[in-house]
Amino acid sequence: MNVLKETKFILDKYHITANKNLGQNFLIDDEAVTGIIDAAKVSKEDLIIEIGPGLGTLTKELLEKAGKVICIELDKRMMEILEDRFSMYTNFKVINEDVLKVNLKDLIQQEKIKTAKIVANLPYYITTPIIMKLLEDRLDIETITVMIQKEVADRLVTEPGTGDTGAITYAIHYYTEPKRVLEVPNTAFIPAPKVNSSVIQLEILKTPSVKVENEEELFKLIKIAFMQKRKTLINALANSKKYGNKEQIEKVLRELKIDLQIRPEKLTLEQFAELSNLIETKIV
Ligand code: SAM
Repeated sequence: MNVLKETKFILDKYHITANKNLGQNFLIDDEAVTGIIDAAKVSKEDLIIEIGPGLGTLTKELLEKAGKVICIELDKRMMEILEDRFSMYTNFKVINEDVLKVNLKDLIQQEKIKTAKIVANLPYYITTPIIMKLLEDRLDIETITVMIQKEVADRLVTEPGTGDTGAITYAIHYYTEPKRVLEVPNTAFIPAPKVNSSVIQLEILKTPSVKVENEEELFKLIKIAFMQKRKTLINALANSKKYGNKEQIEKVLRELKIDLQIRPEKLTLEQFAELSNLIETKIV
C-alpha cells in the first residue's frame, strides 16, 4: 500500500480539491492507516460505520477485514469515487448524508451482524457534536475509534476533575472507558492541518460508570456549570437561575462537603452525580 501515491492519483483523476468547510484533510500515512485499523480490531463479525470516508483510504482496508462497512459522507463529489472504487464489494454501502441527521440506531439494528463499531478520521469542525451524538444515542456499539485533533483528544481522555476538561469529558467518562491509541503528526494529511492529531478509542461501558437518578438532568447540570467554567461552581449555577439562589446552592454544596470556592472543572464525575441527585430533590 502507498496511500500518498493513491491519494494523489485519485485527487487528480476526479479533479478534487479539498473542501476546508467540510474539514477535508486526507490521510496519506500508511502507518496511521494501519494503526487505526489495528486498534479497532476489525473482524468479519463486525459492522463498521465509517463517518466521512472521503476518498476511501480507510474504507479500502475496512472492507477487507469487516463483515460489512456502511459509510456516511456528506460531500456528494465523493459518491462517484467511492462507488467506482468499492461497488464490487458486496459488504459495502454508502449514504450521502450529514452524519448528524442519520438515525444510527435504526441503521445498526437493521443489520443482522453481531457487533458494531465506529471508525473514522473525523471532520474536526464537528468533532464534539458527532461524539456527543454517538454517546447520547445509546447505540448498540462496542467501540468508537476516531482520529481527532490532539488538543481535543487531551481534553477528552483527561480524568474529570483533574485538569483542563470540558462538559464532553464527563460524558466520555460516564459512557465509556477512553484511551489514547496513536499520535499522528500534521504531515500525515493533505492538505496538512495546522495541528497534530491523535487517535483515541472509546470502549462503551455496559452500564454507566456512576449511578445517577436522572441522566438528562446530570448532563444539563454539567453543561450549565461549564458555560461559565472560569467562575466558581456556585456562581455559575446561581447565574443560570435554574437551581435557585446562591444561598440554596450553598446549602446543597455544604451538605455534599464540596468546597464553596471550587470551579466546575475541579469536580469529579461522582461529585457531579451526587450534586445532580441532591439539587433535584432540594431545589428544582
Ligand atoms: N476518511 C478520509 C481520510 O481519512 O482521508 C477523510 C477524512 S476528512 C478528515 C473528514 C471527512 O468527513 C471528509 O470526507 C468530509 O467530507 C466528511 N464530512 C464532513 N462533514 C460531514 C458530515 N456532517 N457528515 C458526514 N461526513 C462529513
